[in-house]
Amino acid sequence: VSSGSHERVALRTCPLCEATCGLSIALSGDRVLRITGDEQDVFSKGYLCPKGTTLGDLHTDPDRLRGPVVKRNGVFVPVGWDEAFSEVARLFRPLLADPGPDCIGVYLGNPIGHNLSGLIYPRVFLKALRSRNLYTASTLDQRPKDLSNALLYGERYTLAVPDIDRTQFMVVLGANPMVSNGSLATAPGWPRRLKALVARGGRLVVIDPVRTLTAELAHQHIAPRVGTDAALLLAMVHVLFDEGLVRMGRLTDHVHGVEELQELAQPFNPERLAAYTGVACETVRTLTRAFAASSAACIYGRIGTTATRFGSISSWLIDAINVLTGNLDRIGGAMFPMPATGSANTRGRPGQGRGFVMGRHHTRVRRAPELFGELPTSCLAEEIDTPGSGRYRGLLLVGGNPVVSAPSSARLDAALPGLDAIVAIDPYINDTTRHAHVILPPPSPLQRSHYDLHFTQWSVQNVAKYSPAPLPLEPGQLDEWQIMCRLASAVDGSNQSVGRVDERLVESIVRAGVQDESSVVFGVSVDRILEQLAPRTGPERILDYMLRVGPYGDGFGQTPSGLTLEKLQQNPHGIDLGPMEPRLPEVLRSGDGKIHLAPSLLMQDVGRLRLDIDVGPATGLQLVGRRHVRSNNSWMHNIPSLMTGKERCTLMMHPVDAQERDLQTGATACVTTTTGEIQVVVQVSDRMARGVVSLPHGWLHDGLDTRLSTARLRPGANSNRLADGQAVDRPSWTSVLNGFPVEVHALTTQSQKATQK
Ligand code: SF4
Repeated sequence: VSSGSHERVALRTCPLCEATCGLSIALSGDRVLRITGDEQDVFSKGYLCPKGTTLGDLHTDPDRLRGPVVKRNGVFVPVGWDEAFSEVARLFRPLLADPGPDCIGVYLGNPIGHNLSGLIYPRVFLKALRSRNLYTASTLDQRPKDLSNALLYGERYTLAVPDIDRTQFMVVLGANPMVSNGSLATAPGWPRRLKALVARGGRLVVIDPVRTLTAELAHQHIAPRVGTDAALLLAMVHVLFDEGLVRMGRLTDHVHGVEELQELAQPFNPERLAAYTGVACETVRTLTRAFAASSAACIYGRIGTTATRFGSISSWLIDAINVLTGNLDRIGGAMFPMPATGSANTRGRPGQGRGFVMGRHHTRVRRAPELFGELPTSCLAEEIDTPGSGRYRGLLLVGGNPVVSAPSSARLDAALPGLDAIVAIDPYINDTTRHAHVILPPPSPLQRSHYDLHFTQWSVQNVAKYSPAPLPLEPGQLDEWQIMCRLASAVDGSNQSVGRVDERLVESIVRAGVQDESSVVFGVSVDRILEQLAPRTGPERILDYMLRVGPYGDGFGQTPSGLTLEKLQQNPHGIDLGPMEPRLPEVLRSGDGKIHLAPSLLMQDVGRLRLDIDVGPATGLQLVGRRHVRSNNSWMHNIPSLMTGKERCTLMMHPVDAQERDLQTGATACVTTTTGEIQVVVQVSDRMARGVVSLPHGWLHDGLDTRLSTARLRPGANSNRLADGQAVDRPSWTSVLNGFPVEVHALTTQSQKATQK
């Protein structure tokens, strides 16, 4: 889009969080003049947060690597791409030959979920590596929800999201979307949407031990004891059965396991659980009655319910309550999106799938099962530092910073130097990549095209938006998909060109399509499809294919008015594909085409919960995480404009808890667990309940050999040094990053000296 003689405007979907806001980027040459929200964006309608305005700063950040670096004598030195990939081959190929592929671990960080190439091309290097040891950031925060989705509906991304724009009653549990802008429910402008819910007379209830900004907007804030949400949800299920409030309506024929769930919930009455949850029985009963009585209600939970000891049970019961009250797949309830590029629940036979299996292989040390082909990141450090046959010798990191974001992070930090080969695709020398032997930097977000393959799967409105790269690559720079293709051929020794690796990938994707009876291109020749995709290459070619065979696609001519990439290019503000529509039963991919409301794996885990309830509520302080609108995991701490103002990495605590420990705002506290110890600045706040302290994650940028000059000025403290990688939600093996006991005391001269030693 041109505007004026020297100024042009590029439209780009923001890749920094799940909200997918449309940005309007004013440019002069390759200089970003300003970034504002795209008022005409079909989804975000002009909304953006402070992070979205900083893509230009990210692009010009002098610390961001512009070319590959290789470590020589302990120091990173710039090299050309050929030399970098030769080094990758020199490091990885001997290990792949002996002891073999499984001596290499792969960690895929959260940023690749926001990246078109990152969602398509990892398969080329994973195939070349042949290692089964794949770890992802998903195993740190959302795996319980993935697991419950798979158990209930047959597929992990069959995720029921709150129909936030049409609901009349919303319960938000363990989430603060007024600040985080939402997660596992893509909706740019959560604050606007929540306020609109309140303005149209709808009811908002927040269940959270902290009085968050979302809680302040709500009609009712219920503050349970930390980590008791699973019991609270079970009490709500109990009330639904106990008071005859179960009304499944049209869902009835599609659900199995109602009686088993009723029997399970029978002993968990809210009267019995009140002492454990800290929530009065009448509060639970009143809330449940009101929820059941609403014509359109949904309950939504996020990281406060997933990265916890009973995350899988909570994830399951959230859906169970939506089902039992008839709110699943109901307009204004919790609904299933229909993404334009399709998903596992739009492919195959509608309403029928193969279900899923887990545990096809396990980690070496703790025998943790694979789930969706991935191993839990809580186990990564021990696979590196535990001696014996099968110990990892190499690691490939893609857009991840697990030294900051994984539990027992000090252990991982100490373990990484023991590896023979670490290769990272990352733009920064951060606390994790400083241990790498080779770093291959991708271009900045402004130099990459974009389509949200991932987040359209849980988007509250069906939309399709494509953004071309606002700025070109610099001479000699490689795009991220090209790096991944070259990495694959360096690793497998084939030395195939980027073009050839890309050809083989698209051929394999198209071949799978033409052999799939459910696909619109079933039986069509591969060559014919490839001809129609020409002359595109790279991610655009594959995106075009996915759009054209997707639910709204042109079917390669079968529906001429249907979606193509060309059509998206003609609509740079995106195409609105309409609100979510009821999709049951076709959305189901369980083996028998039913919703399994009483999955045995999770029913059994209730035994563990029962024991916890019998032991009684935890005493002492419990640590929970929190979000800030100017921060996102560990990503944005090197952007000066986002790091101004008050200290954000603070330990928030209740005034009485602080007073008992002789702590005031601004004082430094020492926080300890059996896993580690940190020092952090205190912020006394009556938002906190007694017994709860909160600390954001993603901080501590103090590695002397990092290249994060802004972040290091305010390094913060790493909450994951306190989190114990051994503590997991048992069914999903997800780390307990929210709700674990800590000791807090004022930093004395003595403890300061001990820490310095
Ligand atoms: S909420 Fe902020 S960070 Fe998230 S997509 Fe929108 S502008 Fe980007």
